[in-house]
Amino acid sequence: MDIPFYDLSKTHSHIQNELEQNVLDVVRSNWFIQGSNVTEFEKEYAGYSGVKHCIGISNGLDALRVIITALDLPPGSEIIVPANSFIASALAISYEGYRPVLADVREETFLIDPDRIEAAITEKTRAIMPVHLTGSCCDMDAVLEIAEHHNLYVIEDNAQAHGCIYKGRMTGSMSIASGTSFYPGKNLGALGDAGAVTTDNDALAEKIRAFINYGTKTRYHHIYKGYNTRLDEIQAAALRVKLRHLEDWNKQRRRLAARYMAEIKNELIELPQVPFDCVWHLFMLRVKNGRRDELREYLEFAGIHTLIHYPIPISRQKAYAGEFDSDLYPVADKLAGSIVSIPLFPYMEDEQQRYVIETITEWK
Ligand SMILES: *Cc1c(COP(=O)(O)O)cnc(C)c1O
Repeated sequence: MDIPFYDLSKTHSHIQNELEQNVLDVVRSNWFIQGSNVTEFEKEYAGYSGVKHCIGISNGLDALRVIITALDLPPGSEIIVPANSFIASALAISYEGYRPVLADVREETFLIDPDRIEAAITEKTRAIMPVHLTGSCCDMDAVLEIAEHHNLYVIEDNAQAHGCIYKGRMTGSMSIASGTSFYPGKNLGALGDAGAVTTDNDALAEKIRAFINYGTKTRYHHIYKGYNTRLDEIQAAALRVKLRHLEDWNKQRRRLAARYMAEIKNELIELPQVPFDCVWHLFMLRVKNGRRDELREYLEFAGIHTLIHYPIPISRQKAYAGEFDSDLYPVADKLAGSIVSIPLFPYMEDEQQRYVIETITEWK
């Protein structure tokens, strides 16, 4: 049996008519930028997320960038990010001229460790960027308490956790502003690059709205040296269709994850520990005794495709050579050498999942 890591075809065939019709309507309208699909999607996603404002952005990286730039932090400011995340979280900070400061993660949850945040704070720290990695929410009570105590902004990176609820609140609604990505493989994915900012802050929303459109509020009057990082009509039209199914797809992810949790039994493997509700963007195992690569090869041979999120911690990326003391993040290092993400996607068939479970359980 051949099990892809992620299979979008069933998801899209399920909504094919509606999806194609919405996209075709945009093509026929000949209105591609700043139209009604973007406006409506922004309202719908803000409503879904429980925030006042959603601003459509061209991708997740730019969503984080525009938040950081709109906060107008003093030069030399430091922003704390987890040592294990996709590189975009750190890049957004670097691009805007600030310094990403890494905090190690917790081994059991893969998420930023509040104790490490405390230890990373200096007089230049201005913000913390928790990343809700794998679809699981960070320990936000602790993060928000630290932020309040030290008078820091919190900026959530919600690219992997659309629909995740933490103590009654959606991820992406618990901070000054949150950046998210609708890259096709995310829980809510567009048909290309797309993203959004969510915030309850009126002034920040207004500023970001201007910033993403060349720094204008009125055409040809440029009040900021802004960007062009708008969401486009075709992506918004697709996202509007897919948002209506997100809850169902997340429910499927939860069911698949519960089955993995109950049925994968192998002494060499540790299952993820998820402290709060999770929308299972990724299902990540830890492999003991340094045998991760062996397991991957074995699974690949059996036709089961896996990925590593992420194989090289941010501190050891060539792009950041010389910027971090990479020995300070032992947990991120340990994870990079021992984690593996296995297939989990909406409409994954019982038979497919049973094959994955049996193959992993039989591994010695
Ligand atoms: C995908 C992702 C991003 C970046 O999103 P893009 O739309 O690809 O730019 C940022 N942070 C995390 C945690 C991600 O998974």
